[in-house]
Amino acid sequence: MHVQMPQTKTSPLPEQQQQQWCEDETGSLAFLFHKRWPQGFMCPYCHWQHPPSPPSRILVCSHCGHPSSITTNTILHGSKKDLGQWLQAIWWLCTAETEISAKNLQRFLHLTSYQTAWTWLQKLRMAMAAADTTPCRGLVELGCALVLPAWEKPQQALVIAAAETIQPAGIPGRIRMSAINILTAETITTFLRTAVEPGSSLFTPDLPVYQQLDRYDLSLTEAPPDHLHRTGELIKEVEVWLNKVHRGGVTIKHLQLYLDEFCFRNNSALLPDQEAVFNLLLQGVLANKPKPYRELVSNQQERRLP
Ligand SMILES: [Zn+2]
Repeated sequence: MHVQMPQTKTSPLPEQQQQQWCEDETGSLAFLFHKRWPQGFMCPYCHWQHPPSPPSRILVCSHCGHPSSITTNTILHGSKKDLGQWLQAIWWLCTAETEISAKNLQRFLHLTSYQTAWTWLQKLRMAMAAADTTPCRGLVELGCALVLPAWEKPQQALVIAAAETIQPAGIPGRIRMSAINILTAETITTFLRTAVEPGSSLFTPDLPVYQQLDRYDLSLTEAPPDHLHRTGELIKEVEVWLNKVHRGGVTIKHLQLYLDEFCFRNNSALLPDQEAVFNLLLQGVLANKPKPYRELVSNQQERRLP
């Protein structure tokens, strides 16, 4: 499976650190504060850089006077939950040997509400998308296929995928995926703008629509002799994963978040260890001005189209 996390090292963060997150909100705040503002508090509104100061959950900017908090304009914006629980959830997501599902997260954090666990996971999937933005480069295969995200519902979704091959070793590299409404030269080009780095060599299925691409500094190339149609296998793998882990419960409206998780897991397996994966995901969590969750899911289809 491409969705497994790297197995090169296990739990490199000291156990005391994780224990501190469980027991001490002050320690969790200090950890997050340093990760977000290593040079000192920077106002999320006027971007004024303040000198280093003791960590605080609520801050008032001395330049614009605007109050803000450690979570303002991040994925955690507005959350009243314990910061340590969030850190544990992020670490669990990067290291769990059980399947990543809302039910398992609910058990892990002893949350009373399944809905809370489900919402947390959706937000962390948004963080994965914010963190994992590096496009595929070099030799890249492009492909598109239908998936059935929920086996109980007969509605299929169209998924386009890019998969790089790391040369000269010829080993699988980064992948990108997007849910699209229709396969046209325009939707493919929109996908390519963020999914594939200019200057890459692209090989595509032998269909007329791919010959009409606005290639913007991409060159079409022949598939390598040992080519195994990786994008088709990946999209099939997504469908199997959705139905196995999520029991056919993923709707098309939320599909992009799950594709983002699938790609993050594949791509972060190229990192050296779990701590690197954790730090990458934390970057996504703390990234400034993410799209509000409601906006993300309600505009899922529209934002992917030209
Ligand atoms: Zn300010």
